[in-house]
Amino acid sequence: MLVERMRPFTSTIFTEISRLAAETGAINLGQGFPDTDGPASLLADAAANITERGVNQYPPGPGAPSLRRAVADHQRRFYGLDVDPADVVVTTGATEAIAATLLGLCEPGDEVVAFEPTYDSYAASVALAGATLRPVTLHPPHFGFDDDELAAAFSDRTRVVLVNTPHNPTGAVFTRAQLTRIGELAVAHDAVVVTDEVYEHMTFDDAEHIPMATLPVPGLAERTLTISSAGKTFSVTGWKVGWVHGPPELVAAPRAVKQFLTFHGGAPLQPAVANALALGDDFYATAAADLTRKRDLLSAGLRSAGFDVLTARGTYFVVADPRPLGFDDGVDLAWKLPELCGVAAVPVSVFCQSAAAVAATRPLVRFAFCKRDEVLAEAADRLTGLRG
Ligand SMILES: *Cc1c(COP(=O)(O)O)cnc(C)c1O
Repeated sequence: MLVERMRPFTSTIFTEISRLAAETGAINLGQGFPDTDGPASLLADAAANITERGVNQYPPGPGAPSLRRAVADHQRRFYGLDVDPADVVVTTGATEAIAATLLGLCEPGDEVVAFEPTYDSYAASVALAGATLRPVTLHPPHFGFDDDELAAAFSDRTRVVLVNTPHNPTGAVFTRAQLTRIGELAVAHDAVVVTDEVYEHMTFDDAEHIPMATLPVPGLAERTLTISSAGKTFSVTGWKVGWVHGPPELVAAPRAVKQFLTFHGGAPLQPAVANALALGDDFYATAAADLTRKRDLLSAGLRSAGFDVLTARGTYFVVADPRPLGFDDGVDLAWKLPELCGVAAVPVSVFCQSAAAVAATRPLVRFAFCKRDEVLAEAADRLTGLRG
């Protein structure tokens, strides 16, 4: 019954691996959700909005004014970007922002350039829009792209370039040079740049998150839509409060579409997220330091279990190569891992559509490290069982 364009997207690997993890009692490092809640002030604020302040009816169309202002303030504070709150649209998570943007910008037959592996909603949203995905492979171990392969993905049908940095599932953070190259090609082909920056505050070591809208490529900021959300930054992935901002004529596209996807939601959550975005630098610094420690804890565990670890520079995922342990197929390993050692992970190749990217990532598995330290220590301990 399902329309043909959605048939490849009926079930997600997360659901299947999570079910397997539950059945086997494995520690689930497959799906990326934190096992602790966000800042207490944020939680209390949202609760009070519901029970004391009566913020329970439809929020204003483009989002609560306080949140739109807070997003603009955040963009100035962290990146020096000058954003008019009128050009911010609040969405039901970054997921809706991405879908509404693609549905609002792409005519059937238009092409969307995106980097593979990709976050799993991209291919489905491109398909919903009737557009065609033009994938560019990110090559392990550093998950950079080949310049010629990127250039070849553009055509006169390119409507959108979808860029996710820091990048899920690889943990890569695009460099200024890489982002500049993408931006130049977008300008040359008159394409819109859509950036997914939900991991903007999760970078490690010397990696720096650079929003594409800040790059001094002539004509780039004018064609860039920037997307982020509260879920990752504040460890509230179930809240689904996201936003998109950009020049008025561009942001009009997701604003128009989202009215007919969800209308407007999350009224009591929006003002709470506005206050959280204004939390002090210590909150953001502590969150990044905590995640760096967790990355190191799990990476060390994976290494001592015998994996090659591909260093994560951002997000809360780390990719591991099990070939030293004698496994060369990540899909096969992900299905066996819960049984073998009581830990669940997801294969990286399922985030790819093209044969080239599937081949490049075939052995790899992704582990989430957004878990309590003792859970990661226990997972590391269990993983050593793999050495057999
Ligand atoms: C989690 C995630 C999203 C979804 O964000 P929501 O605000 O929960 O909808 C979008 N993009 C990437 C890369 C993600 O990892």
